[in-house]
Amino acid sequence: MKNSILNIAVDTPVSQIFDYYPPEDSDCSPKIGQRALVPFGRREVVGFIHGISNDSSLPKKKIKSCKSIIDKDPLINEGAHELVSWCKNYYHHPLGKTYATAVPRYLRAGKTPAIEKMLFQESKDKKKLKAHQKKAYDGCIKLLKKSAHILLNGVTGSGKTEIYLHLMERVLSKKEQVLFLVPEIGLTPQLYEAITSRFGNCVGLIHSSTTDKSRAKAWLAAKENKLSVILGTRSSIFVPFHSLGLIVIDEEHDESYKQQSGLMYSARDLAVVKAKKSGCGLVLGSATPSYESLLNAEKGKYSEVRLTKKVFSAKPPEKKLINLNTNSSKKGLSAPLFRSISKALKKGEQSLLFINRRGYSPVTMCEECGKIEECPRCESNLVSYKGTGKLKCHHCSYQKTAETECLVCEGKKITVGHGTEKIEEELKDKFPNEMIIRIDRDTTSSNKKRVEAFGYAKSGDAKILVGTQMLTKGHDFPNLSLVAFVNVDQGLFGSGYRSSERFAQQYYQASGRCGRRNKKGLVLLQTHNAENEALQALLNDSYMAFYEKNKEDRRRLEWPPYTYSFLLRAESPSEKNVFHFLDNIAEFIKNSEYISSIKLLGPIQSPIGIIRGKKRGQLMLISKNRKKLHMIGGRLISFIDAKKLGTKVKWSIDVDPTDHS
Ligand code: ADP
Ligand code: ZN
Repeated sequence: MKNSILNIAVDTPVSQIFDYYPPEDSDCSPKIGQRALVPFGRREVVGFIHGISNDSSLPKKKIKSCKSIIDKDPLINEGAHELVSWCKNYYHHPLGKTYATAVPRYLRAGKTPAIEKMLFQESKDKKKLKAHQKKAYDGCIKLLKKSAHILLNGVTGSGKTEIYLHLMERVLSKKEQVLFLVPEIGLTPQLYEAITSRFGNCVGLIHSSTTDKSRAKAWLAAKENKLSVILGTRSSIFVPFHSLGLIVIDEEHDESYKQQSGLMYSARDLAVVKAKKSGCGLVLGSATPSYESLLNAEKGKYSEVRLTKKVFSAKPPEKKLINLNTNSSKKGLSAPLFRSISKALKKGEQSLLFINRRGYSPVTMCEECGKIEECPRCESNLVSYKGTGKLKCHHCSYQKTAETECLVCEGKKITVGHGTEKIEEELKDKFPNEMIIRIDRDTTSSNKKRVEAFGYAKSGDAKILVGTQMLTKGHDFPNLSLVAFVNVDQGLFGSGYRSSERFAQQYYQASGRCGRRNKKGLVLLQTHNAENEALQALLNDSYMAFYEKNKEDRRRLEWPPYTYSFLLRAESPSEKNVFHFLDNIAEFIKNSEYISSIKLLGPIQSPIGIIRGKKRGQLMLISKNRKKLHMIGGRLISFIDAKKLGTKVKWSIDVDPTDHS
């Protein structure tokens, strides 16, 4: 085999694969999936043997030899190899970069950690399923036997977690493995506790706070069949299991499953691919399934199992609009809202205030001359933070100390609008003796802070909770009886075709958290648009009823999930370069044979036109025909490569985009 050629993926932005001879002085027979140390330019790097072939398009003299093969057995097993290849093709991403996303950094550095055995031992503290759960569970078992993908569509508090645990037990006791995905690191502690207390110390955690080494350990242990469960956020989808029996995607609708940079994959969609290829079971769970998944259920691609009853038979919460046109709210909170919080406090119950904006206020302005504080590098206003006295840009790392006077006219600076910090301040002012907890990305930046904040929220010590959607995702607050949406209009009238879906999900997720036990809940919505039809529908309907009406707009306007889309982005310090690039691509598509089945939107300036001093533009491709869209995607890349179009801009393709900024 001395003459065989190893096709090695190296972490570079080019889509090409690199050919090498096996190491000179070894008699090993290289295998696909092994790591190899290879000379690359003037460096030596770790690459992955992606293929082995008999010849190369390169002249023999140009082919170098690998320095060494790192692994005895392939690190990338067959399943992982398939998934990486699939990703590369589907997301039109360079192969080496795809490996770099899929494999933990520690392993990519050529290191191999020692691993321990952490296997499922026994099942303890099993809860008996309630009748409605049992029925859903039995339904799931039947479907799993038929290898169907399940959409577990169950209202908040219907006890989905317990169903997952029962399904897991069945798989684990057959000595198979489970992958459990959650959208946010904040949800891992409660599930870790639930899983380990029942199935023992058999869980590997993978999320943003996991160290490189622990991540590699969990990854490798799962591959070696020495670990039974991986619990983690989206990147865990790439773990190469030895004998995967079940994937659970909790809160499947959550946009955090989509990566927004580099390889812009959707972990939920990859789970479907993984389940298909490996034949394992798949359960996608949510109280507010994504329109994509609901449509897949309608098409029969998923089998839907519904749960409409709650475990604790709570009465549905009362829902009320607070008209901000007639109830003033200087700092964001109206008098009726204050009264309701007071009432809840008197009864010893919790209140949750939801506002999807962190910081003190989104706009800082001079009272005299009207000058607004903007980021010098981005097309964006600076967000003020009172606690630290800073103004920060949410798009780059820019920050500065906030001045009290305007540098232009010495007028007084005022803040306009409110974020979580301002609402918290206002609440502290009104309820000085209560424990108030703010939960957003700023207050939960470390593991310790996050665990502490959620601890107070769940124990009920904190009577008032303020937060972004981080607070409303999948948490069970037993003592919560009031949920308030501080600024409905901001969410409901956001831009983009997904804004009403997103708001409905936030609304039903948050409102479903109150009145869980036998308490009567109250949901308040502060708005300037009390007459709005969509808002009225939210008040009166279930999520599914809202979806049934809302989906017709999406269908009529030919937006996803009724069509498929690519978003091409380009950025450069020069606007001319951005549009030269995008115009060329638009022209190429217009002249291609596929134009009849593709709709082109743009090129246009991106919604945030400048970030870090770079001008940004985009082009959207929409089609009812997914295959054709992908064909043109492939052609596009070759076109860009051949014409060397991408040299003056930084560009990317976002397949199935969820964020259009
Ligand atoms: P969901 O995820 O569907 O919103 P949860 O899984 O959070 O619902 O369940 C809601 C509450 O009901 C939790 O406090 C959970 O511990 C409890 N629960 C679920 N199933 C049972 C059961 N069979 N018996 C007793 N309590 C249960
Ligand atoms: Zn900025």
